[in-house]
Amino acid sequence: MPYPFEPHKIKVLDSIKILSRSERIKALQEADYNLFKIPSEKVTIDLLTDSGTSALSQEQWSQMMLGDESYASAKSWEKFEIAVKNFTGKKEVVPVHQGRAAEKIIAEILLQKNDIIFSNGFFDTTRANFEHRGAICFDVPTEKSADLSTPKLFKGDIDVKKLRKLLSCYEERAKFILMTLTNNTGGGQPASLKNMELAGNIATQKGLKFIVDACRIAENAYFIWLHEQKRMGSIKNIIRKLFSLADIAYMSTKKDGLASSGGFIVTNDESLAAKLKELAVLYEGFVTYGGMAGREMEAIARGLEEIISPTYLEHRINQIAYLHRELVKIGIPLIHPSGGHAVYIDAGKLFSHIPRNKFPGQALVVALYQEGGIRSVEIGSLMLGKTSKPELVRLAIPRRVYVQSHFDYIVDVFKKIVVNKKRFRGFKIIWQPSTLRHFTCKLKLVN
Ligand SMILES: *Cc1c(COP(=O)(O)O)cnc(C)c1O
Repeated sequence: MPYPFEPHKIKVLDSIKILSRSERIKALQEADYNLFKIPSEKVTIDLLTDSGTSALSQEQWSQMMLGDESYASAKSWEKFEIAVKNFTGKKEVVPVHQGRAAEKIIAEILLQKNDIIFSNGFFDTTRANFEHRGAICFDVPTEKSADLSTPKLFKGDIDVKKLRKLLSCYEERAKFILMTLTNNTGGGQPASLKNMELAGNIATQKGLKFIVDACRIAENAYFIWLHEQKRMGSIKNIIRKLFSLADIAYMSTKKDGLASSGGFIVTNDESLAAKLKELAVLYEGFVTYGGMAGREMEAIARGLEEIISPTYLEHRINQIAYLHRELVKIGIPLIHPSGGHAVYIDAGKLFSHIPRNKFPGQALVVALYQEGGIRSVEIGSLMLGKTSKPELVRLAIPRRVYVQSHFDYIVDVFKKIVVNKKRFRGFKIIWQPSTLRHFTCKLKLVN
């Protein structure tokens, strides 16, 4: 399969500055080998995250000019609310400034100390917010996800058998089941509709709430449409179906909202919505803007329409599949199959000469910047500490931003790294904060 045809053309330019290798080495030293501290203008290809980094369409920009910045009941809020209701099929909409704000509010309403909650994979901010309330989070991924290199479908599923077992042990303390679509910590892999229905049924039987973290629900729905529904029906209906299973859903619109910020919580439960809104006013802003500017709500309202385009989604998923395929061809060990928003490299395997305690993932992150100015993120022992199993590096792909030459360039940089990979060394932490150390820690090269 060739590189997919871009279903858009370029209108506004953002120039890329290309530094020399020695300038990049200097930048790495100045940043203490922490890529979060490299100024973005010194990055050639930025694959740190797909969050808030999407290219906006001309329709989004033009709608933003109509942004109504009135404090209450602005026109832009009306459009936002209609778009969210249309996208989700839910009756109540609570706006928030980004995904983790939704998590904080949901946590405060639903959770108490020692409550137990389950997921196919809690995202890091999700887990942090729920643990902050004293809850205990169980990731219940399926066994098929443990083997990184087998290309099984729907590796983002929750393990239903194991979930039932855990629930019989912890029945009294169990509070809810949360499904992350797609499963970000599990390699951007989707969950199947069947798995969602099974998990939803278990929640209903046990009297638990069923929550959906819908950050990348459109990408997840595309995989369901492609593999499970055999290209029958519309992606919009699959998205609606997924939302219909949830008692509560929330979404960071920095991802599949195709926007730079924002988010929302939705439910059909009016009394729950009233409670959510009380806290939203306290933490986020009045219930008709939730910390977002009117122009941001305009961009999101339009983004939620653009994201369900089959042409867009096909290009998006195939663009990532192209990078995945080209990296496999040159022998880079990856999570299989190609997922929704990123390519995940098994850096522990690629840099097997570097032991875990010397952060092979971070060594690859540094190598990618040094050899090509590519910024990626380590998801392994540096980010997650000793609880981490595979030493991964994520190449997250911003939506609608890069084209084929950029992807071919990334592959060329990998080629340069693998021919002489033994010369890349591991790292030692020389300073770290007490939590979320990967954002600010300082590192030093070791032999
Ligand atoms: C990004 C993300 C969040 C948090 O959203 P923010 O807008 O970054 O606060 C929650 N869950 C998942 C799966 C995410 O990817």
